[in-house]
Formats: sequence, structure tokens, C-alpha cells
Amino acid sequence: MSIVAQSTETTDWVSRYADEVIEESERRAPGKPVVVASGLSPSGPIHLGNLREVMTPHLVADEIRRRGHQVRHLISWDDYDRYRKVPAGVPGVDASWAEHIGKPLTSVPAPAGSAYPNWAEHFKAAMTRALDEMGVEYDGISQTEQYTSGAYREQILFAMKHRGDIDAVLAQYRTKKAPAKKSQKPVDEAELEAAEGSGAASEDDGSSGSAGYFPYKPYCTACQKDLTTVTSYDDASTELAYTCQCGHAETVALSEFNGGKLVWKVDWPMRWAYEGVIFEPSGVDHSSPGSSFQVGGQIVGIFGGKQPIGPMYAFVGISGMAKMSSSKGGVPTPADALQIMEPQLLRWLYARRRPNQSFKIAFDQEIQRLYDEWDKLAAKVADGTVLPADAAAYLRAVGTAAGELPRTPRPLPYRTLASVADITAGAEDQTLRILSELDPTQPLTSLDEVRPRLDRAEAWISTQVPAEARTVVRDSPDTELLASLDEQGRESLRLLLDGLDEHWSLDGLTHLVYGVPKVQAGFSPDATPKELPSEIKGAQRSFFALLYRLLVSRDTGPRLPTLLLAVGADRVRKLLGA
Ligand SMILES: [Zn+2]
Repeated sequence: MSIVAQSTETTDWVSRYADEVIEESERRAPGKPVVVASGLSPSGPIHLGNLREVMTPHLVADEIRRRGHQVRHLISWDDYDRYRKVPAGVPGVDASWAEHIGKPLTSVPAPAGSAYPNWAEHFKAAMTRALDEMGVEYDGISQTEQYTSGAYREQILFAMKHRGDIDAVLAQYRTKKAPAKKSQKPVDEAELEAAEGSGAASEDDGSSGSAGYFPYKPYCTACQKDLTTVTSYDDASTELAYTCQCGHAETVALSEFNGGKLVWKVDWPMRWAYEGVIFEPSGVDHSSPGSSFQVGGQIVGIFGGKQPIGPMYAFVGISGMAKMSSSKGGVPTPADALQIMEPQLLRWLYARRRPNQSFKIAFDQEIQRLYDEWDKLAAKVADGTVLPADAAAYLRAVGTAAGELPRTPRPLPYRTLASVADITAGAEDQTLRILSELDPTQPLTSLDEVRPRLDRAEAWISTQVPAEARTVVRDSPDTELLASLDEQGRESLRLLLDGLDEHWSLDGLTHLVYGVPKVQAGFSPDATPKELPSEIKGAQRSFFALLYRLLVSRDTGPRLPTLLLAVGADRVRKLLGA
């Protein structure tokens, strides 16, 4: 049996939630598919941090699927939400988009040059591509489609009829500070909403005007915006009258009208009841009293439903995202991460941490260490020495119940690929030559063997490593430095050059560069650290620094064996003064 098809018997956090969710689903809806849910707002570029909103239920749903149960993972696209503000730095968007504030996200024009019909579709598309690449299976639900098709008609009429009950629940929290909406948001936006104060609160839970409280807000049929106030509602006829700040006033029959929506704090629990959601996590900002999750837990009962199991997940941070690559509005998106790492690695980051643990996604040097750790884990899985919890995380990272994700046939170390990309600036023939020389007993026949990992490493070097940190191999020898060397320095270079041809592989050169200082100190090049005086470390360090200075005019650089292979034997000889 392939490793992917198995469900894991280990109890990791995913497995434990799967147990709980299956049990709860059997209790609430026996014989029905298990329903888990995520919500995403395509109000702008969807932040990489929001991926946890999807990955947490995805992993649980996938485990449930592996156990042979039917499961639906709903992703609710909150694309009928109002357009709140023009995000900064989005290509093809200028200040003129402000005139659309207040319209549904699907009624706002897409950024200039977009292939998509509107704002929401444009940002949804980028997320959809990333989710596909990561193997996330889901049912996407457009809230615009739901509302404008009248799918929620009964629920809307019901909420209006029971507006008193809803108002009574909300009233318990009204004096408290309004928390942000469900999704994780960049700090500046959260601050902005906090500053909006009561405005944001009324937007989320509806407002009480002189005509009383209404949990429903129509989009104005004249200006398309939600700058409307309900002035009266008649339960018997369902006639609703509203006025708009644009001057328009109208009476519509809610039994036919499809141009408005329930306010957020009512909309969310309504959908729990409507879809029978058993599991839906949310960001940590929801642990506070008065949060939409808490309030929703009381309102869902009015709709005859139950609150889902809803763990709070901790924020996911980003380390070292280079400014230059945040081309889509200054926030890193899942697509940005997938440019520099394979989907397996990104899945693993989510699978190995419990939802309440925060972690960072590395765009800086840390990504190399992370990849080393990932490769070590793969080796342990292969030789059977892996710990059960680590094996579970690995299993969830490399594939889903549907099968394995495409993998790089020869996963050479990311660190090595990055160094080669750094030195060659992506020149294919040179890259193939260097990578083939890493292990002459198993030469590479085509770069396809190391793709897509090679492409990710190249993208990391070109988008995340600043120009001043890039490696530039010298064109001509540093004659001044060579002339200043003492006899010992000259001998070290001689020993290295004499051994080059015989040691021209990654392992061979590693042995050679560490061996030269040993030989100079009168030991065998094979001597182990235990057989050597501690001073040898210092000698090795100075030897390496000398080589870096002569090859790349700096004190450090990519690992020396990789660097030597990349520079090529002829050029090494020239630069080391042979
Ligand atoms: Zn209007």
C-alpha cells in the first residue's frame, strides 16, 4: 500500500480533530457527509497568513477522507461583502477605485489589465491557483451567487421575523469594543477598523434606527452601495422600505428582492445552520467576548442550528519577505510562497504545528535550514527511523487522499541549488554542468530531474536575496593578496590545486578542503575530529576565508565545495594563482 493512501494511526492533532468531527457529525447528521468550512474575503490580495483558515479544515477533511468517509470542505468566498477600502500598492488600481466603496466586491471593477470580470474574481483566481497547486480539494461557494439567487430567502425572512431575539443577543455585547471580522488581516487594517469604532460594529451586527433593529442591509438599487437605512418593515407583506445616502428611496418585497445581505454577525451563524457545518476554525481574535464566533454561537440557535467545533488558530508570520517581491499590494500571498518553495514544504509547515501554535514562513535564509530539515525527515521516513508524529506530518505534506503531489525526481539539497543559482544567475547549461559534477557516479542527464525544486531555489535567489548579498565570482586573480601570502598560505593553495582533479565531486571536494589544513598540521586528511587538536578548526576557518577572498572577494559565501564546482576547475586554477 502506498504511504499516501493510508490513514495514519498516529494521533497527531489532525487525527484527534478528525475523531472528534466524525463523532459529532454522526451525532448531528447521521449518514450525511461531514461538512467542514473556511471563509475567505477577496477584498484584495489574500494574505499568506490566511492560508491557515483553509489548511486547518483541509488537513482534517483529508484525514476524514482517508478513513473512507464522505466529506465536504466548503470555502465560502465572502464576495458579497462591501468594498471597504482601496488597498495600497495593487498594480492597475488607483485612487479612483474609492468611488466604489460600499458596493459588493463582485460589483467593483477588477484592476486594470485583469483577465477577470470583477474585483472579487480577480483576487479569488490567484488563491484558487495556489490551492489547486497545494492539492486542496473543496467546494467553493460564492456568497454573491447565494444571495442574488435567493438561496437564503427563507433564512432572511426568518431573521427579519426574529430580529428582536437577534437584537437581544447582540445587545449583550454592544458596549464592548468591536473585534475585527473573521479573517486574519494585516495589522494596519485591523487598526483601521479599531479606529472606526462603533461604525465597524454596526456594520457587523446591523443597526438600530428609529424604526428598530434590522439584521439585514439592502444594497441600493440606484447606486449599488450599502449606504442604506431600513426605515420600515412589515412582517406580513415582507415590504421593506429603505433610504440611501445617494437620495434614492424605495420599498421592496423581501419575498422577491435579492439585492441585500444579512449583517456579518448574523450571516455567519445562519450559514452554519444552512450548511450544517461541523468544523470551522477562526483566528485568535475570536477568543474575545463579543467576537463573531462567540456571538454566532448564540445566534445559530435562533436558526435551529449548532455552532461548529471551532478551534482558534494562532497567527502565521512571515520572516524576511523582501520588499521588492511583494508586487501584489505589499502582502505576501500563498502564490508568493509557492514561487520559492514546493507545495509539500508549505503543507508541512501547517501539518506539523497544532493550530494554536504560531510559526513563521521563511522567505529569508531560514528557508535553506527548513529544507535541510525536510530532507532529513524524508530520509528518516525512507529508512524507517522516523517518529510516529513526524511521519504523520510528512504523510499529510506529500499528498492527500487523492494521491501524491508531483515531486522533484531528484531532490538535491535546496541550499546547493540556491548556491548554484546564485553563481550562475540561472544559466541552464552552466547549471546542468555543475549539478552533474556534484556526483559524477550518477550524473544528471537533464535539469528536469531537479525540477521543480531548482526553479523554486532560482526564484528565491532572484526575488529574495538582495543584490549586495549575491555571490560574484572574480574575473581576474587578486594578485596583491596572492603576493602577500606566506609560505604556509602558498602551500595550502598548492595542496588544494594538486588535489582538484582527483576530488572533483561534492564529496571529494568536501574531503579536500577540510583535509588541506590537516595535512599541513602533519595529520592524515582522513583524521577524525577526535584525533585532531582543537586548533585545527581555526586553521580550517582561515583557509576557507582565504579561498573566499580569492574566489569571490568576501570572507564568506556558498559552501566551498559547491562554490568550487560552480566556478569550474580552470577558473579556480586561474584565481588561485596556479
Ligand atoms: Zn444609493
